[in-house]
Amino acid sequence: MKTRITVPESLRDDIGNIVGLDDEGCVILTIGNSTAVLTRCCYATGKGSESFTGVVCRNCYVDVHHKHGRPHTSIAVARKDLDIVIEG
Ligand SMILES: [Zn+2]
Repeated sequence: MKTRITVPESLRDDIGNIVGLDDEGCVILTIGNSTAVLTRCCYATGKGSESFTGVVCRNCYVDVHHKHGRPHTSIAVARKDLDIVIEG
């Protein structure tokens, strides 16, 4: 049984770089030599800020969990177990 996820059109070019989901269902993407956990709100990476968590969404600047500002630690659902659908 695969886990179906729906990603926005903006992620179409990066679908090949998706490595899986973390334990909260956030998409983990390979970026260059590293990986990043994409935000739930925008499927964007995080960036450091003066906010409460220290990290904001790079797209909408809302506070996000600090995990979005660093390489992921573990993959809960591997890419091979995902059924990825593009929104729209
Ligand atoms: Zn956002």
